[in-house]
Amino acid sequence: MAWLMFLGSIFVLWVASLLKIIHVTYTGSKSGFLKSDDHRNVLLVIAHPDDESMFFTPTINYLISLGHNLHILCLSNGNADGLGDTRNRELYQACAVLKIPLNQVKVLDHPDLQDGFGNVWNRDLVAKVIKEDVVSHAIDLIITFDNYGVSGHCNHRDLNHGIRRFLNDTSVEAWELVSTNMLRKYSGPFDIWLSHLSARGETHCLLNEKPFKTYLAMAQHSSQWLWFRKLFVFFSSYSYVNVLKKINN
Ligand SMILES: [Zn+2]
Repeated sequence: MAWLMFLGSIFVLWVASLLKIIHVTYTGSKSGFLKSDDHRNVLLVIAHPDDESMFFTPTINYLISLGHNLHILCLSNGNADGLGDTRNRELYQACAVLKIPLNQVKVLDHPDLQDGFGNVWNRDLVAKVIKEDVVSHAIDLIITFDNYGVSGHCNHRDLNHGIRRFLNDTSVEAWELVSTNMLRKYSGPFDIWLSHLSARGETHCLLNEKPFKTYLAMAQHSSQWLWFRKLFVFFSSYSYVNVLKKINN
């Protein structure tokens, strides 16, 4: 009986969380993040094709719905298993689903920025390639991983280190995706409540207005669309909410 009550409570909380997300979708009661009338040139910096779909879709859907001009810079083509060309193509397919203009998506294949757990990326090099993109697209705001990088992957973390290096020489503002502990990471939409509590000052909570799109976008990454990633997309809190924090160097 106690187990039934426990499972029932979980079910009710799950439904309530999804209803909260749907409520935001239909009422437009958005976060205050970038909500002014000015359309910004935003650069989302990721390490691998599929980072955008696995971790950043609440942010992407939010920015697109507000009409901001979103660019994506992916610093590697995800060639750790020799599938670089395939993964490059899959990223463009996912971006089409997410309504990101494809001429604003760029994937690098630099010999010193290759995908892999053992491949440490030089911060100065990361700062340099980001600076080139910022200048060529008149970017005024950058979004990337925080210094844990959600999964702890060194390539994700190196992006944060490189962007902090770049921020020493620019007035461009940057925001990082806050990593959560393992329990929150796999709590699905439940995490929206805790994320709301953490949103104040220079920390914003963005709910995913179209969680089904996360599934569709990730499904474009056919080479990565294995059973455990399907479960990940369903149970990951990053499919439902992003907490962004301003990077202050
Ligand atoms: Zn990644």
